Amino acid sequence: MNVDRRTEAPAVLLAAALAMAVLLGADGASVLSARSASATGAEPGVALQAAPGAVAASVHVFPVRENVYVLIGAGGNITAEVHAAGVLLVDSGTAAASSQVLTALRTITDKPVTTIINTHVHPDHSGGNEAIAKRGRTIGGAGAGAGIAAEQRAPVFAHENVMVRMSSGPDATEPGMWPTETFFNDVKVLTKVFYGDSIQIIHVPAAHTDGDSVVFFRQADVVSAGDVYVTTGYPHVDRARGGDIQGVIAGLNLLLDLAIPNLRSEGGTMIVPGHGRLSDYADVAYYRDMVTIIRDRIQAMIDRGMTLEQVQAAKPTFDYDRRYGSTAGPWTTEMFVEAGYRSLTPTPPPASSGR
Ligand SMILES: [Zn+2]
Repeated sequence: MNVDRRTEAPAVLLAAALAMAVLLGADGASVLSARSASATGAEPGVALQAAPGAVAASVHVFPVRENVYVLIGAGGNITAEVHAAGVLLVDSGTAAASSQVLTALRTITDKPVTTIINTHVHPDHSGGNEAIAKRGRTIGGAGAGAGIAAEQRAPVFAHENVMVRMSSGPDATEPGMWPTETFFNDVKVLTKVFYGDSIQIIHVPAAHTDGDSVVFFRQADVVSAGDVYVTTGYPHVDRARGGDIQGVIAGLNLLLDLAIPNLRSEGGTMIVPGHGRLSDYADVAYYRDMVTIIRDRIQAMIDRGMTLEQVQAAKPTFDYDRRYGSTAGPWTTEMFVEAGYRSLTPTPPPASSGR
């Protein structure tokens, strides 16, 4: 699928550039500014200019739609949808950032957090589960349906593989961190009357991890991608937690299936990456193409009988390295190529990649 039609005419190019500038610079905030690591030491995110609603801390709030915001700086990006009864969060950031997340939320609403959805198990996306859920509440009582009681705790939704990893093995956490509402099928649906939007939590098998979900806000026209899609580097294929490069590409294609651009490939559905800046269809399409091209190069090298060391030496990512590559930190280019290689070879010994 070729979606890049932006070179048709200079006027179109200019219009597209202006549209993106407006789109990505809502309320005058520059979301194209350089990144910096958050104060909590998790993966790099995008450090954004101060904006109305930002708090004097490392967690910043940026508008996506009239009732949808993204919180940046708490580890992984957090999506917040404010509705009549409360706030729904996609991901909860690091444990250390929980109070800053709650402070940042108070700049946009005084309503409690009533739902948390985890996109996957990593603690920069789920570490705030307990602290934030305990300060929230379950939607219930009068007007919310018979037999559903209000509780002084927000429910946490996640695919059951998140629960499996959180409840045993190397990723085990205290029970207070665990999801309270798990699902095992392809799609979990949350209805508007309780959750403020018609929401699909869609499981992406074996991608970044084995428990990934993307969250589609159908009314708001926003998709929270989790770490299936990031703008800060090559995709982190966490082989030790069931990740696979083929699943990452399938997840990126799913995002493109959900998203509808406004004009050509620009605007329309907004995609919140797990780390990095707010994106649209074109951004995801470019990233999908990049991962697919690198996957195909690695596959071709495997088909020629090359070893992992030979594939790494041949630099199948070379022309993308200045944009996405890294020689240090938690996810290097070498680690990405190794994860791709092991995803594509029949007997892959799992390689631990942390995080
Ligand atoms: Zn992650």
